[in-house]
Amino acid sequence: MNNSDHQCCCHCGQPHKQGSAYCVIIGDKEQAMCCPGCQAVASLIVHGNEVNKDEKRGRK
Ligand SMILES: [Zn+2]
Repeated sequence: MNNSDHQCCCHCGQPHKQGSAYCVIIGDKEQAMCCPGCQAVASLIVHGNEVNKDEKRGRK
């Protein structure tokens, strides 16, 4: 892969320049996003997973 100064958006896969990326913490890692839209969706997905985990714990 040629990723010397480019990364791919964690959400949509589009390449973007390092340093201009939007980031979301997924697990313990910072994942780069290409735009505020991908950042918002990705953070919603992460937040949703956390909520689901809490819900499962609460129900059992
Ligand atoms: Zn993207």
